Amino acid sequence: MAAAGPERPRPAALTLLGPAPGAPSCPHGEPGSEGKSRASLCSAPCLGCSAAAFTKALLWKLGTCSGAVKDLQVFPVLSYPPHLSLGPALLFVKTSQGKEEGRRFYACSACRDRKDCNFFQWEDEKVSETRLAAREEYNRNHQPSLTHRQNVDRYKNFVLLPLSKRRFCQECQQLLLPAEWEEHSDHQFLCDITTAQLKSPSQLLYPLENKKTNAQYLFADRSCHFLLNLLIDLGFRRVLCVGTPRLHEMIHSKASEEEEFSVRSLLLDIDFRYSQFYTEDEFCHYNMFNHHFFGGEAAHETCRKFLHEENGERVIMVTDPPFGGLVEALASSFKKLMAVWKETEKEGHDNKEMPMFWIFPYFFESRILDFFPSFSMMDYQVDYDNHALYKHGKTGRRQSPVRIFTNLTPSMIVLPEEEGYRFCTVCQRYVSSGNQHCEICNSCTSKDGRRWKHCVLCKKCVKPSWFHCNNCNCCTLQKHSCEKSDVGCFVCGKAGHKRSACPSLSHTRAACQPDKKKRPKTRKRVKTGICKRLAMKHAIFSKRKVKNKKKKS
Ligand code: SAH
Ligand code: ZN
Ligand code: ZN
Ligand code: ZN
Ligand code: ZN
Repeated sequence: MAAAGPERPRPAALTLLGPAPGAPSCPHGEPGSEGKSRASLCSAPCLGCSAAAFTKALLWKLGTCSGAVKDLQVFPVLSYPPHLSLGPALLFVKTSQGKEEGRRFYACSACRDRKDCNFFQWEDEKVSETRLAAREEYNRNHQPSLTHRQNVDRYKNFVLLPLSKRRFCQECQQLLLPAEWEEHSDHQFLCDITTAQLKSPSQLLYPLENKKTNAQYLFADRSCHFLLNLLIDLGFRRVLCVGTPRLHEMIHSKASEEEEFSVRSLLLDIDFRYSQFYTEDEFCHYNMFNHHFFGGEAAHETCRKFLHEENGERVIMVTDPPFGGLVEALASSFKKLMAVWKETEKEGHDNKEMPMFWIFPYFFESRILDFFPSFSMMDYQVDYDNHALYKHGKTGRRQSPVRIFTNLTPSMIVLPEEEGYRFCTVCQRYVSSGNQHCEICNSCTSKDGRRWKHCVLCKKCVKPSWFHCNNCNCCTLQKHSCEKSDVGCFVCGKAGHKRSACPSLSHTRAACQPDKKKRPKTRKRVKTGICKRLAMKHAIFSKRKVKNKKKKS
């Protein structure tokens, strides 16, 4: 069945096929010639595998629920300065009940909200000259007003100014030179910008928010110090910071203060405001959803050079993407960065992967492992400053759901004992204090830090608040409505079974994960179906709660 009419498919059933070669660039800004040539994109994730099914489920959920739930779908996007070019669009396909339906189409890689970017194009659509011209015009108008180079030159002049002449416009989020004061006279600004402030741009800039949800969650000092010390102890001397401006600035400012501190860092981020504070060797304007370097070949080369390990200086990548981001798109970009690393050293790296920390909520564990089977999840709870939920409280802490996923050997990741983490000799990794080793699962099974209990019927450990429901044939919350069997399966549409038991799903999954059986026990997927939906609810609930909190305060 073909998609009807020229209308843009509703998000009801969309599957990301991944960025594709020759994808058109988002009209947020035609990135110019370099954007077009760079449009080669990721290997499409398997349409049939459960990974994609999860996305389908996610979008299905988002497409049919109220506005608040939609939050989860929103990709953090620069709403300031006015929209920038975001590089090649991603290719999606409309699906209905597991079947690919009709035409594929391109949509913006970073904006998940049509209000932010209305870019839409059928894959096989012939775009008229007039429309192309209009698109180019629109893109030109949405470029940042200053280039990175210009910003670097401005910075040089700025630091020469006496304190009394150093102003920062809060409205324009811009360092001001005296000649520009006039223009910003009716804007709010900060005066006497100190060198210390210039070294901590993440404190000076306001965290980006789009209308719906906070896009930038900044590490609490505790977590940022922990990460940095861990990296140093592990012997890394170079850190590729992908969407981790606070870690970058901590490394950068230490390097400028302490002579013997030899760690270097390169920041890749979509937040162009950082170009005011860092040179082209320290910051690349980058979109992690489509692996797009806005600075073209030169920026690509900067990254390549940085990843080339000279004088035994080992490199690690640390990334903390927006949680609403599609894991498929992120994984494909990260694989490309790994490939860049690999290419820099033909002999040395043979079978190794670039070391990586991917910071993400624990309920994405199975999704991340789908793409990176070599990764494991650490128990460490990452805390944030400007996140009401994921924050170290004064009176006993709220448990943050955010974890570190890494391809390093888990036993090497030493977690702070003063925070209660301890080493499990059986699992050969540090676990949180509440995480009890289950003799039956033969693993420390808690994901959220609380003590989990073993269910003999489910043959696995489950959350302490769950109980076994004989109707659903799985453990779930006490308060739940048992899945009705007269509703067809979400994947194949047939009645008689649920998504979790869909034969088409297990078939295709087997096809795309031939080595699944070899995976160690601890990496077992969270049971599909109802349990995943609960995880989703968790995610949605968290965001909602933040929202309500914000309203109250
Ligand atoms: N905890 C981190 C910040 C994480 S917030 C720290 O304190 O350093 C997510 C980061 O990803 C933000 O810096 C945001 O600007 C960046 N980001 C959001 N969307 C992006 C995209 N499409 N490409 C690259 N970076 C992005
Ligand atoms: Zn201003
Ligand atoms: Zn254990
Ligand atoms: Zn168990
Ligand atoms: Zn059970």
